[in-house]
Order: sequence, then structure tokens, then C-alpha cells
Amino acid sequence: MKQYVYTFKEGNKEMKDLLGGKGANLAEMYNLGLPVPNGFIITTEACIKYYQNNEVVTEEVLNEINNKLKELENDTNKYLGNPKYPLLLSVRSGAKVSMPGMMDTVLNIGLNDEVVNGLIETTNNKRFIYDSYRRLIQMFADVVLGFNRNLFEEIINNVKNEKGIQSDLELTEEDLINITNKYKNLFKELTGYEFPQDPNIQLMECIKAVFKSWHNERAISYRKLNNIPDNIGTAVNIQSMVYGNFNDNSATGVLFSRNPATGENKLYGEYLINAQGEDIVAGIRTPKNIDNLENDMPHIYEELIKYANMLEHHYLDMQDIEWTVEDNKLYIMQTRNGKRTAQAAVKIAVDLVNEGLIDKEKALMMINPNQLEHLLHPKFDPEVLKEVTPIAKGLAASPGATTGQIYFNSDDLINAYNTGNKNLILVRLETSPEDIEGMNYANGILTIRGGMTSHAAVVARGMGKCCISGCEDLIINETNKTLTTKDGKLFNEGDYLSLDGSTGYIYENELKTIAPSLTGDFATFINWADEISDMRVRANADTAKDTKQAIDFGAVGIGLCRTEHMFFGDDRIMAFREMILSDNNEEREKTLNKLEPIQREDFINIFEVLEGKPLTVRYLDPPLHEFLPKDENEIRLLSEQLNKSITDIEKRINELKEYNPMMGHRGCRLAITYPEIIKMQTRAIIEAAIYMIKNNKEANLEIMIPLINDVKELKYLKGIINTEINNIITMEQVDFIYKIGTMIEVPRACIMADEIAKEVDFFSFGTNDLTQMTYGFSRDDAEKFLTDYYNKNIYKNDPFVTLDPYGVGSLINIAVFQGRHNNSNLKLGICGEHGGEPNSIEFLQQFDLDYVSCSPYRVPIARLAVAQAKIKKII
Ligand code: PEP
Ligand code: MG
Repeated sequence: MKQYVYTFKEGNKEMKDLLGGKGANLAEMYNLGLPVPNGFIITTEACIKYYQNNEVVTEEVLNEINNKLKELENDTNKYLGNPKYPLLLSVRSGAKVSMPGMMDTVLNIGLNDEVVNGLIETTNNKRFIYDSYRRLIQMFADVVLGFNRNLFEEIINNVKNEKGIQSDLELTEEDLINITNKYKNLFKELTGYEFPQDPNIQLMECIKAVFKSWHNERAISYRKLNNIPDNIGTAVNIQSMVYGNFNDNSATGVLFSRNPATGENKLYGEYLINAQGEDIVAGIRTPKNIDNLENDMPHIYEELIKYANMLEHHYLDMQDIEWTVEDNKLYIMQTRNGKRTAQAAVKIAVDLVNEGLIDKEKALMMINPNQLEHLLHPKFDPEVLKEVTPIAKGLAASPGATTGQIYFNSDDLINAYNTGNKNLILVRLETSPEDIEGMNYANGILTIRGGMTSHAAVVARGMGKCCISGCEDLIINETNKTLTTKDGKLFNEGDYLSLDGSTGYIYENELKTIAPSLTGDFATFINWADEISDMRVRANADTAKDTKQAIDFGAVGIGLCRTEHMFFGDDRIMAFREMILSDNNEEREKTLNKLEPIQREDFINIFEVLEGKPLTVRYLDPPLHEFLPKDENEIRLLSEQLNKSITDIEKRINELKEYNPMMGHRGCRLAITYPEIIKMQTRAIIEAAIYMIKNNKEANLEIMIPLINDVKELKYLKGIINTEINNIITMEQVDFIYKIGTMIEVPRACIMADEIAKEVDFFSFGTNDLTQMTYGFSRDDAEKFLTDYYNKNIYKNDPFVTLDPYGVGSLINIAVFQGRHNNSNLKLGICGEHGGEPNSIEFLQQFDLDYVSCSPYRVPIARLAVAQAKIKKII
């Protein structure tokens, strides 16, 4: 029979799928002998069953809950609802993957009027008991019944205002009794009934609320953003309560075993004396830095160091630990691998290897390659920073530099984004999980309240966004949408600020940023990746500048130089247009002669940067009409510049118009109609190579023909190219080796790969076109309807982003197999966008490609992804 509820004794850390991350780790720690309050876990399968069963908890699950509850009562000698020895419980969500703050928690379950009176007799701590009771009423109304918690917060704030006090800690016993009564009245007003006194009803309602929170809006949107499946459900952790708000010898805190923002190997965290955990995460009170705990509670500080160390050695990763002290006794409430910035992730991985805790393979597997993207973002130019003075300083919660317009709530920010403003900063008093959508659209987040572990900080770090929290230097007015500095400087919605998430400084106006570099730990880490992988990483680049960036990021060559991009510059587009508008071959050749030296110069510049690394040059690919102007003014201008009539130009534009340009006159088809274009391009590239050789430099050239679907096309064009090359070689009298290859980007080319392979040195899979033509989806328009596919659960991923392993993958399989069969020296690569996408790379690993090629800024990501693909293949 299936088991739906497990005691901590029955679980362990390997059971995350069933017990959720939090539950599995609680069980693990309990069994390791750490001071964990005892409890039990309702499985994720019970949650799935709850939904299958029309949101009803089945008899079977109910019975198991009751049995485990009895076991817990016997173990603790405390009993739910017993006024003398009351068992008080927390109910928390906990999915397999951590989703911080997205689902619900209720604390202090089991309190009712009778238990409150009993506790007053045994503990004589009225203040604490009423503080706990009022929290239960508020959480129950909010989490279980969906009433706005601010209605309750207002009551507390009114009492504080009346008394002229700031902090909850200043509330007296009488205040809390008074507040609790007001809460009860409000509860009745809202619901029409009294706050439920039966602890069993409280418990069951809270369990159901946690199940339900799996489908709340913020959890759904978090899953979407993080690619977490919707059908895995959450576990529910039920644990006996310990109280950080018991007295002044009590506290609650969050601790990272290393710094999650920088990776520094030093305890990092925050705490509040006399508070419950929610107070820290919600950012309601700004907590104290963990360093102060050494003074406040020296023995607890010692113990925490011991446990943090122990847990890090046990899990072999940096830990994010929640802890509570109740009346001088420490409890560990949760541990998990801590979320961290990309910068910290790299440092921690490198340090753990250097400390001998893990090997390089494990280190490489610790980081999601996409996270590296955040290290490849610009930072503020240090020269500019010398010239400016910050207007304020907050906590450096998540590093990175960002400049943008400020908005004071998610809706306004998203509206601004939709009207085209892409550089945006979300400014909030404190963020709550409802802000997740706005945070996603923002480049940076600034909060006035909250510590380094507040919701804003945790979520921003997870998203890799720059964040400054707890900036009490600034005064916010969310209603008027203004920020004011201490010396009275006012900022309105839409004004520009610059945030430095690495230092916590805030500047006015837009500040200049500079490109990142690959140095230090990042370089060490990414070089380990190269030691392990077989597939190499090249880049798609068509200028010397991009090539330089790609090489700096570790590319071993250029896998795709799209020559059409070389014609877009202001100094060339006119000559190119003149070529397209030529009336005859002679005129066309004349204009091509103007382009040839320009293109030759470009290739020389790229060769210079490459210093002998391979350069794959692809002939002109897009349909010609893409180069011609579209609006009247531009056509008039062109007519004046080229001294051609508007009518003639319009006639040519019409001639070139196609119904399906993506399937039209492009790629090698252009070269078949206009061989003079590839002749010119061949001359430019070969002469550039010869120039290099004559200057005692290397030129490692691979020539690539696009959009081939038949060997006859290839042979025809190869003939033209070889004749042109041989003429030049004879004339220049240089010995010169080059390769000729083809893109494989049409399904027919995959099927006919055996024939094609005999004629070429290499294949490079152009999976952008191959995906387009395999699906019959236009790569320019598919986004418009693919959203419907995702919404209706027909597709999960965009096939233009993640390679389709079934259809497109099968075609690649055929091409690889047949190509190698007929040409054992055939080199293989991929240069479609998928070449820089980790899941696609993992799929492609099976084909032992020679390289993947991607945009320069994705090179480090691809380097890690190819290493991970190899490690996964070995293990
Ligand atoms: C491709 O089709 O995958 C490719 C790399 O070529 P382009 O994107 O230039 O069509
Ligand atoms: Mg293509």
C-alpha cells in the first residue's frame, strides 16, 4: 500500500521527489542528530491525489495524518488541544524544487482560548502567548481564507500610532491582548463566524490551504519563469513549534554557510531577537547582521558555526539554514543548498575544489550554465564612478550594475515595459511575492526596507538581477510615487537612477557601463570545463570586434561568419543596393568590384584577431529584397543617390517580392542565379587569406555554402568557387589549403547527406532553418501563435530555442550517420542558435560533433554546457 505520510525518522535527503526539498532535509537532519523539532511530512503524491480527487483529502490520507499526529504527540508528550501540555504546530509547504516565498505557511496551530489560558498558567508569559495567538488568527484569515493581511496589520499599526511607538517589541502584554481581541472581532466580521477553536479543524484547513497554494498565481508564475513542471505538487511539513518570540533570550535567523552574494567563505546571515521567522523574510523589521550574534548570544553563535560547518560537509555545498532560539536553546528549522549569485556560485565551486571537498566534475555540475550569463553583463565604468557621488547607500543584495527608469509598483512597470521602455527599476518599500512579475520585467530592484535575506534579495539573486535592499537613506512615498533623499532631492516615476548591486550605492542619472571580462575564479572554473569536454566551442561573429570578444570568452574559432552583415554598414549598403538594382551582369560586376576591397579588408581584420584559429565564412544568404528600402522617402533618396528613376527602383523591388521569402530566393539559390556574387566573395576571402600568408601570418579558412538541398547544387557552386580560387592561387603563386563545406539546414539535405558528404570537408547544422523547415513554422512569425501552444499545453518549449530531439533530432541523426558513412573525415558542427543552448547541447553530445558555435556572449555558457553534457554521458 502506498504511504502518504512519513515521520522524520522514516525520511532522508534522497527522498526530495516524495517529501519535497524541505521535508527530505528536515528528516535528514533529524536523523543526523541535529536539534530539529520533530514532525511529519505529507507527500507530494498526497497533493497530486488531492487535486485528482476534486480537492478533497481522501480517507486514506486522513487516517495516515491522524496516526502520524498520534506518534508525534507520544514522542513529544504534548497533545493537540490539551491546555496543560499543548502541542502547537507549524504547517509549511515544500516542493521538490525550492520556490522561496511562493507558497503558504501557517504557524502556531493548536492555539485557542482554552489552550491560551492553560499556557498562561504554565508559562506565565502572556505577552508571548497573545503575540502567537494574534499571528495565528491573522495567518489563518490570510492563508486559509484569502483575506488581505493588511486589514490585520492596520489594527497593529493603529495601536502603535496611538501609543507613538515604532516597533512591535514595544507592544505590552495588554496591547497584545487588546490586539488579539480586535483580530477576533475582525475575523468574525469578515467571515461571519468565530475563529475556529477546534485545533483539528485548524490543522486540516491549513493542510488544505498549503495544497491549494500550489496553484496560487505567484506559484504558477514562478514555475513558468523557472521551468518547474506544474504537476509535481508540494509536500506539507508539519512540525512542532519552537518560539523565537518566546522572550528576549529567543531569536530567529537565517544563515548562509558562505556569502551568497560574493561567495566569500564567511558565515553570512541575519537575525532578530524575540521574533518569528516570518518577520525576517517579510522584511517587516530590518534584522541584525549575524556578526552581532557573537555578542548577543555567544554560545548560540558557536553552535551555529559548528552546525553550518557540519551541514556544509554533509551536503558538500553552501547551505542556507533557518534557525530559531527558544529561551536559550538552538533549533535548526531548515537547510538547503543556498541560492547564490553567479559570481558567488563560481567562487564557491572553485573554493570547494581547492578545499578538497569536491572534485572538478562535481564543481562543474553545480552551476546552471545559463546562470553564467549574469557574469557576462556590463559593470559601471570605474572612471565614471570616480566622478559621481552616490545619493544613497543600501545593502548590496545582488550584484551587477543597472541603469533605468524607476517605477513604484509592478503594474506601472510592466505597462512601461509594454510601451517600449526596457531599462526599468522596480522601487518598493518592501517586495512581496506578488511583485514577482514586475521583478521579472525590471533590470534592477531597490527596496527601502528588508535585509539581505528579504524576499526581494532572495528572489533577485535567484533571477540574477541587480538588487539593493534595506536602503533607509531614501524616503519612499508609494502613493505619490516619489523617492526623496536625506537632503531633500526628489525623484519621480520615470526618472533615471543607477544601482550598483555589488556595493549598494545608488546614483542619479544614467551611468556608463563597461564590458565584462573573463578573469580570476571565472577563468579557472571555465578552463576546467575545457579539460573535460571533447566538443569545442566556436562563435558566430562577423566583425573583428565580435571576434575579439568571442576569443576573449574562449572561443576556439568562428563557426559562422554571416557575410551579409558586412553589407549593412552605412559605407556599404549603397554599393550593395546599386548591385541589386543593376540592369545587367556587366553593371552588377562593376558594383561588386566596389564591394570587393571592403569585404577583403573585413576578412583580413578578422584573420588578424583569430591568429590561425579557423574562420568559417558563409556566402550571402538572405533574399535580396531585405537590403532594399521599404518606405517612400528612402526610395526617393536612393533614386537621387543612384541616379535611377523611382519607377525603375519600385519595379525592381516588385520583381524581388516573394510570398514566402524564407523559403524563397536565398542561400545557394542566389548564387545559382547570380554567380558573380559568390565569385566576388570568393576573391575577397581568398585574397585576404593570401595577404595573411604573404605577411607570414596564418589564415585557417573554411568556406561554407548555405541552404543546399541537393548534391547537384553543391557541385555546380563548388565548380565556380574552385575555378575562382585556382585562378587566384596560380596568379599569386602561393600554396594554400582551405576547406569547403555546407550548411545542413533543409530536411532534404539531411536525407541526401550521403551524397552531399562525398563533396565536402564539413557539415554545419543550421538548426534555425532546419527547425523552420521541419516544422513548417516561419521562424519570423511562429512566436505569434506558439504562445497558444504553450498555454494549451501542446508544446512546453519553443523549438527555435531548445532543439526538438524527435523530429529535427532524427534528421540530424540521419545526416550524421550517412555523412560519416560516406566520408570518414567529415567534420561536424552546429551554428544555429541551439549551439549555445544547454539542453540542445546535451542532446547533441551523442553525435560527437567537433564543435558548437554560438554568439560571443554565450561562449562561456556553451563551454560549461559541453562539459556538463560530457560528464552526464560518462556517469
Ligand atoms: C541557421 O539557419 O541555423 C543558420 C545558422 O543560418 P541563418 O540563421 O543565418 O539562416
Ligand atoms: Mg540558415
